[in-house]
Amino acid sequence: MRNVVIIGSGPAGLTAAIYAARANLAPLLIEGWQSGGQLTTTTEVENYPGFAKGIMGPELMKDMRAQAERFGTEFLTGDVSAADFRRRPFTITVDGERTITAKTVILATGASPVQLGLKNESRLIGHGVSTCATCDGFFFRGKELVVVGGGDSAVEEAVFLTKFATKVSIVHRRDKLRASKIMQDRAMKNERITFIWNTVVQDILGDDVVTGVRLTNVVTGKTSDLPCAGVFVAIGHRPNTALFVGQLDLDAKGYVVTGKGTATSVPGIFAAGDVQDSTYRQAVTAAGTGCMAALDAERFIESSG
Ligand code: NAP
Repeated sequence: MRNVVIIGSGPAGLTAAIYAARANLAPLLIEGWQSGGQLTTTTEVENYPGFAKGIMGPELMKDMRAQAERFGTEFLTGDVSAADFRRRPFTITVDGERTITAKTVILATGASPVQLGLKNESRLIGHGVSTCATCDGFFFRGKELVVVGGGDSAVEEAVFLTKFATKVSIVHRRDKLRASKIMQDRAMKNERITFIWNTVVQDILGDDVVTGVRLTNVVTGKTSDLPCAGVFVAIGHRPNTALFVGQLDLDAKGYVVTGKGTATSVPGIFAAGDVQDSTYRQAVTAAGTGCMAALDAERFIESSG
């Protein structure tokens, strides 16, 4: 039986692993098939303290993983297919075949990109529709692109995509961005970026590959087609909690509810990072709560003998 099993390999999970390993708890960290979490799909991280010149997201995650490994974290690659938190020891099944028992579990499963929910969006994913500019931007050299959303992700992706694309149109459903001021300024100054305000994507056009989007202006009701070679959807994230429904308290949006520190409604189960945070959602806050979760798990093990 494991002292601590950590599910998730983003900043929350890896920080929890560093602390749990250094507390001699020999943690097992289950990392999904795409290890490293959301920062592996980002470019330069400029606001993670300690990196005055910035650091590339994937590099930061590689270093965090190496740091967790250095202190004895064991890694298991696979997807958690089932979890039973109703009795102790807790059980976790990976890829439907391997079952692990644990005294404590730290949930750090993060959040996943939300999609528009259009039929042609899922049909054309990988054929012009993407939720990751850093993964797919390279394929659109010399093309015209659309980015959907008005938050930091949309603006950051749009700025990044201008390295390849000749023109990037940000389609936003309101007339004000949600993105931070610094990101807004960067986008406004970029000559390759244009904004299409008060507009939603009604459909994505193209047979085998994306050829355009059908837009509707929500103020005038007018519909128009805009040719483009790619659509990057950046409209927020949804917590990865499907496996925990009915076992833990979740809020209305599906985020794990934490009480004191990182404690969930089940004693011995802790949650860190975006899976329990719909407000701050930063790499540094995820890492901070990962540290807290490891300390909480350590205290729980000590107090329960
Ligand atoms: P977000 O801040 O929640 O923004 C989502 C955007 O998508 C909003 O503008 C929203 O419109 C729009 N939207 C939501 N659902 C939509 C729908 N169905 N159709 C059309 N538009 C829709 O999400 P995010 O941009 O992914 O950012 C998440 C968090 O990560 C934030 O805390 C952000 O600061 C952080 N982040 C930071 C950085 C950085 O600092 N470098 C980079 C990326 C993300 P409304 O505005 O009308 O609600």
